[in-house]
Amino acid sequence: MQLTGKQLIGADIVAEGTTTFHGYTPHNGQPTATTFYEATDAEIDRAVALADNAFWTYRKTLDVQRAAFLEAIATEILALGIDLIDMASQESALPTARIEGERGRTVAQLRLFATFIRDETWVRPISSPLQLQKMPNGEPAMLHQRQIALGPVAVFGASNFPLAFSVAGGDTVSALAAGCPVVFKAHPAHPATCEMVGRAILNAAQQTGMPGGVFSLVHGASNRVGERLVQHPAIKAVGFTGSFRGGKALYDLAVRRPEPIPVYAEMGSTNPVFFLPGALVGQSDQLAASFAASVTQGVGQFCTNPGLFVTSDTATNFTTELARQLSAMPTGTMLTAGIQQAYSHGIMHQRSVAGTQQPTPWTGNGAQPHLLLTSVENALQHPELSEEVFGPSTVGVLAQSKEELLSFARQLTGHLTATIHGTEADLAEYADLVDILTTKVGRLVFNGFPTGVEVNHAMVHGGPFPATTDSRSTSVGTTAIYRFTRPICFQGFPGGTV
Ligand code: NAP
Repeated sequence: MQLTGKQLIGADIVAEGTTTFHGYTPHNGQPTATTFYEATDAEIDRAVALADNAFWTYRKTLDVQRAAFLEAIATEILALGIDLIDMASQESALPTARIEGERGRTVAQLRLFATFIRDETWVRPISSPLQLQKMPNGEPAMLHQRQIALGPVAVFGASNFPLAFSVAGGDTVSALAAGCPVVFKAHPAHPATCEMVGRAILNAAQQTGMPGGVFSLVHGASNRVGERLVQHPAIKAVGFTGSFRGGKALYDLAVRRPEPIPVYAEMGSTNPVFFLPGALVGQSDQLAASFAASVTQGVGQFCTNPGLFVTSDTATNFTTELARQLSAMPTGTMLTAGIQQAYSHGIMHQRSVAGTQQPTPWTGNGAQPHLLLTSVENALQHPELSEEVFGPSTVGVLAQSKEELLSFARQLTGHLTATIHGTEADLAEYADLVDILTTKVGRLVFNGFPTGVEVNHAMVHGGPFPATTDSRSTSVGTTAIYRFTRPICFQGFPGGTV
């Protein structure tokens, strides 16, 4: 595919602006070939106006028509073949096997949503007879409730999933499945991958007769593009995956609009893992190896990365083996120079806060796995030790007693996940811990690891603030669709509904 670097606005490929930027190859620090044009205010407004116009037709499409659209997107993505894999790998430094897995997940997610909306019960129909109103035939009038689409949705993807949480990722798919047109803000860390997938969506829209403007994609390397998008009066909801800083900034803008709108920002998390006493008996080496693999998977660039663990201060076999495993892991290339710098600064800051020896200066471009051990007392005094440092690092909080461990758990903020490793006897002994953690997370894992989020009907990928800006929803799995719908109730209509 010949890349253009331009905006995809409805069926048009345009670039009226003069501000340009380039993608970046993390492996060699060189810019990628294509020049990308930042969207002008007029282009952003046109994309949203087209989405608003398309909404009047798109919201009335049959579920089977939208299902066919989603399936056609999956086919078009697969048709991009190795070119897409190579480009996403070049722009992210993620290995091709990982990108292939991500493409598989993206395609499977599109097909799962297509199947989901083919079942008409997805609109959650509820009916009740009325006491106060009768139909002309004397029968009680009926109330019929169901879900309907909200309107045009602005979607932002994250750099660490160039396919699965990007242009055709869970936010776009759940919005399109619900009947909402999407205007996607392309991520400046993988703009070429964004253009390829965006054009696949437009091809699918054309093949399946979807209205022009059902999908648009705008580029930008500055915050201006996203800020204007979120503040446009015709945008009715925002789906965001990325950093706390970005998600919170966009949330603040959205709630200050004359018409505030829902923002579903899925942000960072440190996903605490509790190793209870029984878990370590006779298997602390294996657990340390599995945990080290989870911490360093994808160079630690996962929102579900376990950046925090809690165990007894007597678990020295486990922490010693973990330190050995992590120090033996290879240095990895991070997604962008900015993320690598943030990782390096974050580690140095943690080390100085924890009062360990003077921070060592960071050398080279890669990210070295990192382990920091601290006491519960220190961790409670310095809450920043429990905050996300995006990359292959983890902070171990060592508790002197069960009570101390529980006191640390009680002060945790919201996380996407928490994990408990233990025996059934541990679970009974630490029932209070389970109870506390259910108030803190969207997914509680027992004897597993938080990395790896399967797309299915029961998955919850969300959690209380600051993991997300709305704990009542999930961004992964079919129930993600309900972020972009609202209930409507029809009262007394002949035949039930309109
Ligand atoms: P990011 O820097 O927040 O970028 C995400 C998108 O938001 C980009 O398009 C970015 O574009 C835009 N953006 C950021 N700040 C903005 C602002 N103030 N105003 C307007 N637009 C803004 O995130 P990232 O570095 O790509 O992703 C890494 C982070 O994502 C990590 O913290 C990771 O934990 C998190 N993450 C979370 C999940 C999840 O499901 N919860 C999944 C994957 C990753 P511009 O910079 O061009 O404006």
